[in-house]
Amino acid sequence: MLVGLREILDIAEKESVCIPAFNVYNLETVKGVMRAAEKMRSPVILQIYSRLVTNGAAEGLSELICGFADRSNLPVCFHLDHGAGEKEVVRSLRYGMTGIMIDASTLPLEENIVATRGIVRLCDHVGVAVEGELGHIGKAADGDESVTHEYTRPEEAARFVSETGVAALAVMVGTAHGKYKKLPVLDIDRIARIKKATAIPLVLHGGSGVPDDQIRSAVAAGIRKMNFSTDLCCAFLDACRLRDKSIVGIDLFMEEPIRAVEKFALEKIDVLGSGGIL
Ligand SMILES: [Zn+2]
Repeated sequence: MLVGLREILDIAEKESVCIPAFNVYNLETVKGVMRAAEKMRSPVILQIYSRLVTNGAAEGLSELICGFADRSNLPVCFHLDHGAGEKEVVRSLRYGMTGIMIDASTLPLEENIVATRGIVRLCDHVGVAVEGELGHIGKAADGDESVTHEYTRPEEAARFVSETGVAALAVMVGTAHGKYKKLPVLDIDRIARIKKATAIPLVLHGGSGVPDDQIRSAVAAGIRKMNFSTDLCCAFLDACRLRDKSIVGIDLFMEEPIRAVEKFALEKIDVLGSGGIL
C-alpha cells in the first residue's frame, strides 16, 4: 500500500532499522525492487530524481509505481529525490508522490532554511512530509566525500529541523553521489550527535559503494533512510550489456536485468535489516 514518508520512517524508528530508498527509472527497475521487497517482506521507498519530473520521464512511470504500491500489502513510499524547486515539487504531488525531498543544500544556512520551510508549508496542505538536506552531499567523482568543512554540524541541524519542520534530514557525513574512487569513511560519531540533537530520522545519500560494516554502524547511530542509485543503475545496465543480443522479445531480454536489480536490492535490504519486521 502507498504510505507517506513520515509513516514509513516511523516504522524504521520503532524497529531501529533503515528503510532502503531505491532510485527507479522504468518498469524493469520498479519490478526488480518490488520483487526484492516482497521476498524480504521489507517496507521500501521507490524514488525518482527531480530530473525525471522535469524531462517528462515521470509521466507514466508515476502511475506504474502507484499501481505496484497499491497492489502490494507492504508499506511503499513514492518519493521525490533532490527536488529542485517549487515547480518540480508541485508536479510531483500531482504525480501522486507521498514523500518530497527539497535540496537547497548549496545555499547558505539561512536561505536553505527559508527555501525548505516554504516547501514544508506547501506540502503540508496535502499532508505530505518533506526531507531536507543540510551540509552539501557532493559528487564522488570530485572526491567530495572527504570535504569535511561541508559536513553537517549537529547544532545547525537542530536549528534547521526546528525552523523548517522537515520530517527527515539528509546529512553530509562522508558519503557522495556516484562511484567512489576510494572507500568512503563515514563519521559515525557525527551521525550519533546529529541524531541526538535533532531526534528525527536521518538520511544517508550515496549508499552505493559504502562497505557493509559502515552501513550497519550508520544505522545503529540513527540513519533511517538510505539511498541507492548508482549501483542499481550499474546492475541494470551491465546486465543489459551482457545480454545475448539475438534475443528479440523485449520481455525475454529484460528478464536478466530485472533479476540483477532484484539481487542488488535483496543484498541491501539484508544489510539494512528492514526485512521481516512487519
Ligand atoms: Zn542524493
